[in-house]
Amino acid sequence: MITTGILSGCASGSKENPKDDFTWQVDRFDDVKVLKYQVPGFETLNPDQKILIYYLSQAALCGRDILYDQNFKYNLPIRRTLEAVYINYEGDRAAEEFKALEKYLKKIWFANGIHHHYSMDKFIPEFSEQYFDNVVNSIPEDKLPLDFGKKDHLLAVIKPAMFDPELYKKRVCLDSDKDMIVNSAMNYYEEGITQTEVEEFYGKMVTDDDLTPVSYGLNSKLVKDNGQLVERKWKLCGMYSQTIDKILFWLNKALPYAENEVQKKTIQQLISYYKSGDLKTFDEYSVTWVKDTVSEVDFVNGFIEVYGDPLGYKASWEAIVNFKNIEATKRTETISEWAQWFEDNSPIDNKFKKKEVKGVSAKVITVATLGGDYFPPTPIGINLPNSDWIRRDHGSKSVTIENITHAYSQASKGDGFADEFVLREDDKERMEKYGSLADNLHTDLHECLGHGSGVLAPGVKGDELKNYGSTLEEARADLFALYYLADPKMVEIGLIPNLDVAKAEYAKYMMNGLMTQLTRIQPGKNVEESHMRNRKLIAEWCYEKGLADNVIEKIVENGKTYIVVNDFDKLRGLFADLLREVQRIKSEGDFDAGKKLVESYGVKVDPELHNEVMERYAKLDLAPYSGFINPILHPVQGDDGKIIDVVIEYQNSFTEQMLHYSENFSYLPSKN
Ligand code: ZN
Repeated sequence: MITTGILSGCASGSKENPKDDFTWQVDRFDDVKVLKYQVPGFETLNPDQKILIYYLSQAALCGRDILYDQNFKYNLPIRRTLEAVYINYEGDRAAEEFKALEKYLKKIWFANGIHHHYSMDKFIPEFSEQYFDNVVNSIPEDKLPLDFGKKDHLLAVIKPAMFDPELYKKRVCLDSDKDMIVNSAMNYYEEGITQTEVEEFYGKMVTDDDLTPVSYGLNSKLVKDNGQLVERKWKLCGMYSQTIDKILFWLNKALPYAENEVQKKTIQQLISYYKSGDLKTFDEYSVTWVKDTVSEVDFVNGFIEVYGDPLGYKASWEAIVNFKNIEATKRTETISEWAQWFEDNSPIDNKFKKKEVKGVSAKVITVATLGGDYFPPTPIGINLPNSDWIRRDHGSKSVTIENITHAYSQASKGDGFADEFVLREDDKERMEKYGSLADNLHTDLHECLGHGSGVLAPGVKGDELKNYGSTLEEARADLFALYYLADPKMVEIGLIPNLDVAKAEYAKYMMNGLMTQLTRIQPGKNVEESHMRNRKLIAEWCYEKGLADNVIEKIVENGKTYIVVNDFDKLRGLFADLLREVQRIKSEGDFDAGKKLVESYGVKVDPELHNEVMERYAKLDLAPYSGFINPILHPVQGDDGKIIDVVIEYQNSFTEQMLHYSENFSYLPSKN
């Protein structure tokens, strides 16, 4: 599971590194800004660690095309056609329509496809179909992705996909009144397969007496062969083999540089899983990976998160290479040490508490390379593995990515956001002073304790909540973090200087959940993304339950709406109540109650407030979404040609990096 940043514009971190003249923002288009991140501490790693990071980073960059293809079956031919035009077009590149084409291409690069990475809605080009025809016809035909088919065929397929607003409207449809598979454009199921067929196909595989089930369906596309449903596995000699072959090449290079035997075994098991596609091997790999808590360098490379599949079976490809931030990790180590105390004292029903909290390992990391579904939009926290039984029996590893959160807060310094949306001076001051610490701690608690806490009731499998599962799981983790952030224990064990840290977080969370996160929603649309639904659910529920005591107040001043928290203690009590209920829903697999909670509080948008927020936000000229480009790792060769060191260089152009990746890390045919 991942945690994404709440909003790009948050009042925090304003006092760090005043002398810093690093340029954080490298591009800005549509609703997006592209930043770069620093990799502090890389130079202090030993050469072998740096070389390990280099090889793993190469492997991390290889799978980009897989994600494009997973997100939508025509993403690759569309991207390649646009890139061919972008590189080769010799007409008027200053023309408005060419600029619109460039913007559309950048949006595709950022979202890894033609659907928005967050709202999942299809992008509508701001240039005409006629213009597209003209520019495509003006470039040499052999520059086009003709592996998809002849030019006429290529255009006949991709043009409707790009321009017809009624086709492939949504990448992931989470509307449970519809057939979510038929209405999603993602490429995990062959077109024509229905939700009922998928549910029956995988429903049969899960048996009650299997206490350690594999993650059925995780690494394959479901297709029909002579009317029969079959899985096309993503593995060497299977689907996506061309890319997996390259990933294996780099993993094999990395192997000799493993820091210890456990890490070596992790890489070996990952290699054999990529070769066989066997999900049992994947579980073995995950268990070994979770046990490796000593290596400084760590990585994820594979089919991991299931947010892109409305039914949560299929995993998108993603990669991250990182190393431990030893100083900041002391913070998460303290949290881990007290994990059992947190579990025992949690406000949930005793029967749903973990008797023995296992292997909560948490660390703060510095990323060196991001790939696939972690890139360019980037999480700030990750907790893996996702398999329920592995988490139960072996624990999970949880990370807070501090060089990313640092970049976010540096890039949003003085952007006017707090002045516009925070009413009270004391709130503003607390957010300024403690915002960064509160954010980081929230992420630590969310990832390393929240997701790992609680148990399922006997007989409950964990998939009962279906399309509401992700939202409720995120809510559970957030509530756990919010509840404990204001616990006196946090002061006692030295994690926070005083409870003002929690007040900063509470005020911001409510403002965001009730109001400012709406800047990410198109007018007329509902909230759909799981993390956003979760924040809205929590904020709206607490607002309603606290009305009688005026716990949270909507204040209108000079025509502007503000959210203020009047009673922080009572709000904490409400977090406790809701956490108890959400845990019960998860533990008992109570679909109806879960659905009611999400649909009543997490989905519908007040159009009037939405309008107001959009207008105020537009005046600030901020981008609601941020993402990153990677630094470049340059290997330094010795006299015998062997790599002896690696140095980092920071790039400054999003376009350059995207074209570089398309040129050098693109292994899949246009049709898979
Ligand atoms: Zn989460």
